[in-house]
Amino acid sequence: MSFLCDTHTHTARCGHAGGRDEEYIQHAIARGLNAIAVTDHVPFYWLPPDRHDPTLAMAPEELPRYVEAVLALKDRYRGRIEVLLGLEADYVAGQEEKLARLLESYPFDVVLGSVHWLNGWWVDAPSSLPRYRLGAAEVDRVWAEYAQALVAAAASGLFDVLAHLDLPKKFGFRPSTPFAGVQREVVEAVATAGCAVELSSAGRRKPVGEDYPSPELLAALAAAGVPVVLSSDAHAPAEVGWGFEQLLATARAAGVERAAVFRQRRAVALPLPPGC
Ligand code: ZN
Ligand code: FE
Ligand code: FE
Ligand code: ZN
Repeated sequence: MSFLCDTHTHTARCGHAGGRDEEYIQHAIARGLNAIAVTDHVPFYWLPPDRHDPTLAMAPEELPRYVEAVLALKDRYRGRIEVLLGLEADYVAGQEEKLARLLESYPFDVVLGSVHWLNGWWVDAPSSLPRYRLGAAEVDRVWAEYAQALVAAAASGLFDVLAHLDLPKKFGFRPSTPFAGVQREVVEAVATAGCAVELSSAGRRKPVGEDYPSPELLAALAAAGVPVVLSSDAHAPAEVGWGFEQLLATARAAGVERAAVFRQRRAVALPLPPGC
């Protein structure tokens, strides 16, 4: 039997998503999904409390209540849809111990690793556009810095899934060569670490207009045996399962017929449906 899970969804707690928790679950059911992982943004564990930004992540004191709320949904919807407790956690070099302690404190099913933050600079924030606009050499530098952090994130062992693997393309700024020349190293690092990657429709809703990762990168990852999950990165209930029809076609074209499903941070590979 086939199985379809949206492995990356948010809640209003992060300050830039809409809707009620329960509406995300109901949309997942309406889309015919077998499971939904709720993976809201981790609080800014790597910054002092006065640097908390309520438009980017939940406050630290909110985290236990978030976990309780998702566990309650897991119970309430048992038999109708499987609700998984997840978190989208930023990788920040030098802060691995802090994140490890945070992750150990809760019974997460799945932890997504994201590189949004590079030494005080946001890879995917509109406020970062001036740097991308400095020209091709600077764009290459962004991609190279990002790749270095991504390789470290994979090797850290903290994450089950790496999210939006080629995130710096979000606004349409491509490097002069894939990953500024280190795509092979990135793919090898992910494969060696045993992390899965998400095939995400979110990029299609962004200026770049392309899923994460690009078809070429997905093919390289699949060839290296990297497991895949499907995701929407929904920041609104109606975005749950968004674009999955095309994701399934893309996955099949890359030779991917199974997706990983994480329960208590252990993966099982389940067959994807032929269409949805
Ligand atoms: Zn977000
Ligand atoms: Fe993200
Ligand atoms: Fe997200
Ligand atoms: Zn995200």
